[in-house]
Amino acid sequence: MQENLERVLFDEQTILRRLDQIAAQIVTDYRERDLTVIAVLNGSLIFMADLLRRIPLPLKLDCLRVASYHGGTRTTGGVVFNQVALPDVTGRHILILDDILDSGVTLAAIGEKLRAARPLSVKLCVLLRKQKIRLRPLEADYVGFDIRDEFVVGYGLDYQERYRNLPCIGVLRTELIGAA
Ligand code: 5GP
Ligand code: MG
Repeated sequence: MQENLERVLFDEQTILRRLDQIAAQIVTDYRERDLTVIAVLNGSLIFMADLLRRIPLPLKLDCLRVASYHGGTRTTGGVVFNQVALPDVTGRHILILDDILDSGVTLAAIGEKLRAARPLSVKLCVLLRKQKIRLRPLEADYVGFDIRDEFVVGYGLDYQERYRNLPCIGVLRTELIGAA
């Protein structure tokens, strides 16, 4: 499957080494606090599984599913919450996990929605952060890697729901975009 990549940006070992560091930082920051992690599906699934198993705290986990990309390679601006009940965040320390901070539209909308339910704190952890001017200015508290503004897949990130199971992160060959 890796032959579909033009370039590998981060191999599995590199990703896992970085997760060790982020997990250690999160453990230090939340040692005295009751942590609730909210993972944004589907993109953060693999990141979440590998990261959370490196955090030996009695945390709670909940998931949230939103749609903003509609299967293409560019953001569309609108964010739809595909869920009737939101996770219970009132009075909790929340750490949002997502695959990538791109335009910021999705995570800004999620942050607003969760803050309305009066959590004690909200922090944001993303595996990747694109270096670009965002539609919604937003700071992440924990970042795996900074990348250029190009479309990447693997390790949870998809192109039209494919390639999420690639163990590495890379740039998809351009001839595959639009050809699926
Ligand atoms: P936003 O533009 O709202 O910050 O990003 C929303 C979502 O778009 C991300 O959670 C992710 O699912 C998707 N996305 C943004 N950039 C990329 C990318 O380079 N590759 C993939 N596969 N998805 C991306
Ligand atoms: Mg996606």
